[in-house]
Amino acid sequence: MKKYPWHDLLKWSQDQHHHLPWRKNRTLYGTLVSEIMLQQTTVSTVLGKFEAFCRRFPTFEKLACASDAEIQIEWKGLGYYRRARNLKRAAEWIMERGGEIPMSFEELCLIPGVGDYTASALMAIGRDQKAIAIDANLERVLARVAGVREKKGPRLQRELRARFEQGELLPEVQSYRALNEALMDLGRVYCQARRAHCSLCPLQSVCVAYNSGSPLAFPVADDKPKIKHELSLVRIVVKRGEKILGFQKTPEQWLAGQIELPTFILSTTDPTLTQYPKASAKLVRKAQKGIQFSTSITKYKITNMVLKLSRPEFDRLLGGKGTKCYRYVLCDPDKENLATSVLKTLKALKK
Ligand code: SF4
Repeated sequence: MKKYPWHDLLKWSQDQHHHLPWRKNRTLYGTLVSEIMLQQTTVSTVLGKFEAFCRRFPTFEKLACASDAEIQIEWKGLGYYRRARNLKRAAEWIMERGGEIPMSFEELCLIPGVGDYTASALMAIGRDQKAIAIDANLERVLARVAGVREKKGPRLQRELRARFEQGELLPEVQSYRALNEALMDLGRVYCQARRAHCSLCPLQSVCVAYNSGSPLAFPVADDKPKIKHELSLVRIVVKRGEKILGFQKTPEQWLAGQIELPTFILSTTDPTLTQYPKASAKLVRKAQKGIQFSTSITKYKITNMVLKLSRPEFDRLLGGKGTKCYRYVLCDPDKENLATSVLKTLKALKK
């Protein structure tokens, strides 16, 4: 096996990134929360949320006993709320079994919402045992360092894991926790998907991708085009004192359990979308004159048109039909599980 300058990598990571809050006062609970938060969300966003979340729900027990709405209020800003629900289900599962996290990789994978990656992270980072947590960052870094010219995705991850298990990919080290975290830091800071700062990288001298002259050619990019749909919505603000009219999303919908403003589809390139009712011709005409802002969710690029109406105007526009699902809720994100779109809409109105 090649001799890699691991010591330099670990020292760089320890010097530069030991301050991350989930790397202090470690517990398996903190590792699980941080790993779930860090999936699909940047470190800088998680930095602003992790400590407050752990203060509010410091143990599996507290998290298991909290309501979905309470957890989602603390989760606000991290997006992908399914992760918050999974975290609660994981806490409930653990508490039903006496409050102990299982020991083996196979048992860890039985926890709801815990897949191969999170189970490996709990082994390596939570318990400092021999394991490698291959997410998109580690997949990229390891493919580049070892020069594995394979398409991104599960096949490459299986290949890297197999090499790791056979002892071909990484050396025996004193701390697999430190190694995993250093590789994560490297993927985040120097070895990025579209940019590699190889001149600063501690592994430059042994990196196959760097030595090939085309570091970004590893791993092979996925050539499937990602479909993005256009979606134009009208979001209606009806105020009564400190309250606004809203409705709660059902478990099958986006942002399940959260409260959204009355929202209607003006137009979309996705004919299968059923998240909101279609706007009437009257509403379409009225909405065109409103304030606009852009957002995105999953595969949709959204243009949001904002319309402020009195309650009688709202009822008239809907023709009295389908208004039963709406109720007045406090306009306070600390007390009500308001969707981010509600806050963005109210902010747009203030401009
Ligand atoms: S040398 Fe460049 S390509 Fe190789 S691991 Fe470092 S940053 Fe990534």
